[in-house]
Order: sequence, then structure tokens, then C-alpha cells
Amino acid sequence: MRKPIIAGNWKMYKTLKEAEELVSSLKRQVYDVTDVDIVVCPPYTALSYVADMLEDGNIALGAQDTHWEEEGAWTGEVSAGMLKDAGCLYVIIGHSERRQFFSETDEGVNKKIKAALKNSLIPIVCVGENLNQREKSLTFDIIKEQLTGAFKNINSEEIEKIILAYEPVWAIGTGKVATPQQAQEVHKYIRDWLAKNYGEQASRQIRIQYGGSVKPDNIAGLMLEEDIDGALVGGASLKADSFGAIVINSRKKG
Ligand code: PEP
Repeated sequence: MRKPIIAGNWKMYKTLKEAEELVSSLKRQVYDVTDVDIVVCPPYTALSYVADMLEDGNIALGAQDTHWEEEGAWTGEVSAGMLKDAGCLYVIIGHSERRQFFSETDEGVNKKIKAALKNSLIPIVCVGENLNQREKSLTFDIIKEQLTGAFKNINSEEIEKIILAYEPVWAIGTGKVATPQQAQEVHKYIRDWLAKNYGEQASRQIRIQYGGSVKPDNIAGLMLEEDIDGALVGGASLKADSFGAIVINSRKKG
């Protein structure tokens, strides 16, 4: 059985002091959880500070993006090697806000995945359709296009190191959560795509998170679905109480 993974994307929130308060409280709430992988993804400025707070605990650190180059004249950017050096184990790649507001392409996502893997970071690769695409029944076409672009020249050994996140754009930050059935349908499509392109073993092993308005009271229903292995959480990860409750409620699977 795949171990659930719950990751919190803090986006552009939290000063060091606020990060300290959130992490201290979260640690108390989930200190005895060993059957869920727990990840927090603070902004770059708080990574190394939070890394120190998480040392030897059951919460791992992730970043929200990376550049694909190792180093160079890329003002404002941060490399995968730097993220590793700051204490990260995970990195979110291809979040819809990066795609929408920073013109991130599937080609860029592909380069970033390769950079992350080269630096032993686990990429959390986001895919998802927007409302217009869903209404035109293009969801599967969009997902297929994003998967094909993201994993170009990624081999079977590499794909097994990746986490996927299905994040319907219309459900992010809107309070409009996909129903468990709507999410499951796309998760199943993704798992079938993985089986077709990388074989049954990879497809069975790879974890696929759902993201989009996940809250303490809807996570359990989502986790009951066969192909949903956890969540990527935005808004509700900014408070220890709600993020802790999502972690605890995600354990009900099985
Ligand atoms: C996200 O930004 O990845 C996300 C899922 O946000 P929210 O939980 O706030 O919808």
C-alpha cells in the first residue's frame, strides 16, 4: 500500500517569526505520526531556518520551485543544489500559479524535474486543467499533454522517484473542492498513463496527491478513493490546527 503524503505549500506567506510559530505548533500536533509523510514548503527566505527546526523529526522540508541550471547569472533564481544545501528533500514543480503567472511551460517543468533529480530532490509535479478546459471536456487531453511534456526523456528508474499532484486549477484557493469521484477519475487516468508509459510496477508505486481546497473535513472522503494518495494543501497549511488535522484525517484510508 502506498504511504499517504501530505504537503503544505505556504506560497508567499510567513515571516521567520510566523514560520516558527506554525512549525512549533505543528510539531506538537503530529509528533507521533509515522504512517503519513508530512512535508512543509515555506518561501525561500525561511527554508534554512525551518530546516533547523525540523531536524530529526517526522516533518520534511520542501521548496516551492527551482531553477533548472546549477548556477549562473539568473538574478532572483535559486537552484536545486542550493535547495538541497538548505535542507530540502522535496520541491514543487509546475504549480499552476507558476504556469499561469510566470509563463512556466511543460518544457521548463521537464528541465526542472531533471535538475531536481540530479540533486536528489523529490519533485512534486503538478498537473491540472482550468475551468474553461474542464467545461469543454478537455481535462484528459490537458493532463496527457502536461504529463507527456513534463516526463520527456525521464526513464523508468527516475519516474519512480517522483510524486504527482493533480490540482484542478478551478479548485485552487476557491473553496470549490473536486468531489472525490471527480478527483478519482483523473487520478485513475494518470495512473493508467503511467502504466502505459512506464509499466505496472511504476504505476502502482507512484503516489498521486490531490490539491484544491483540501480541508480537515474533506480529506478523509478523498483518501477513501483508490488512486488518491495524499494532498497538496495551500490555504489550510498556513495554520497548524488545520494542517495538523488534515494529516491526522488522511490516515483513515484502508
Ligand atoms: C495549492 O496552491 O496547491 C492549493 C491546493 O491551494 P488551496 O489548498 O488553497 O486550494
